[in-house]
Amino acid sequence: MTDSIDEERNIELIQERIKRACERVGRNPDEVQLLLATKTVSPERINRAIHSGATLIGESRAQELAEKYDKIDYKDAELHFIGHLQTNKVNQVLRYTSFIHSVDRMRLANRLHRRLTNLNRKIDILIQVNTSYEESKFGVKPEDAIELIEEVSKLDTLQIKGLMTIGKLSSDPDEARQCFRLLKEIQQEVIEKEIPGVEMDILSMGMSDDFKIAVEEGSTMVRIGTSVFGERMYPDSCYWNEKAEID
Ligand SMILES: *Cc1c(COP(=O)(O)O)cnc(C)c1O
Repeated sequence: MTDSIDEERNIELIQERIKRACERVGRNPDEVQLLLATKTVSPERINRAIHSGATLIGESRAQELAEKYDKIDYKDAELHFIGHLQTNKVNQVLRYTSFIHSVDRMRLANRLHRRLTNLNRKIDILIQVNTSYEESKFGVKPEDAIELIEEVSKLDTLQIKGLMTIGKLSSDPDEARQCFRLLKEIQQEVIEKEIPGVEMDILSMGMSDDFKIAVEEGSTMVRIGTSVFGERMYPDSCYWNEKAEID
């Protein structure tokens, strides 16, 4: 069944919808990047997407990333880590990527910093904010975001580039919109604080079901899986509801 999926065509359709969403609110479509969320997608299909022009690939799990990495042709694409990151997976993930969307606690930031200092490397990160306040979602609480950003900004191996969130999954699209608005507000608040070394250019928000709303609300990077690759075999709870694994 997956063989019948035309990734290239689907990517074109998404780009077209991003463009239309931008037009609705007077934004320049060049401000919005498309990142393909490739969890459970085979290396062959990821390569097909890269060869048809995809430039940003996002993986969600350390183990899966390690298994797939060598088979993927990352020459023309950048790899981001977008899933929840346990501190005991930091070394593994840093082997493959220099861009992490999901920094949401000081313990993780410190662990990344320690490892990166040893490696003499720097990476780009986004701060993940739990704008829906759902217990099942990771991310720093909105009211604690500024404090976390101020603390993380002191670690010179971590370059903060912006914010990431997962919108509320709901039959009412206004609920997702509220999440995206809140992220945008936090971004403005951070910009006004002028925290040394902190950049706020990226708002990573919007997935298959809500990316048009996210773009209307200021997203600069949408993370799309299902709408390009088709339905996944595993429920998403496998990826972001690992309650027992928060550390
Ligand atoms: C899977 C995933 C996505 C993409 O979700 P779709 O609904 O399939 O588009 C986006 N962001 C993160 C963090 C994900 O894990």
